[in-house]
Amino acid sequence: MPYKCPYCDFESLNKKNLEFHIKEEHPREIEKEKRKGEDKVEKGKSKEINDFSRGLHGENVILTFLDGSQIEGKMKGYSRYELLIEPKNDEEEIVVFKGAVKTLKKV
Ligand SMILES: [Zn+2]
Repeated sequence: MPYKCPYCDFESLNKKNLEFHIKEEHPREIEKEKRKGEDKVEKGKSKEINDFSRGLHGENVILTFLDGSQIEGKMKGYSRYELLIEPKNDEEEIVVFKGAVKTLKKV
């Protein structure tokens, strides 16, 4: 069975030749495919946090950020991209970008 190029009519009996062909003839398609994959991962992640934050409304949570720092406080609300947290130490409410959050844990 020949290996078929997904982007044009090219066929080869050798998988290596096909890989070479794609690299040479369709470099942009490869980039696009890569980016599509990354988008999917990002969307999946934010949906997870969305579903989770909905269930945590009014709960005490610990947020861990990508840089390792943490905040403990009460979930006051959320939007598509942000969480509204009332810190435990009674300081002013803070808006947290979900993209900066690594984990969200119920206390
Ligand atoms: Zn091709």
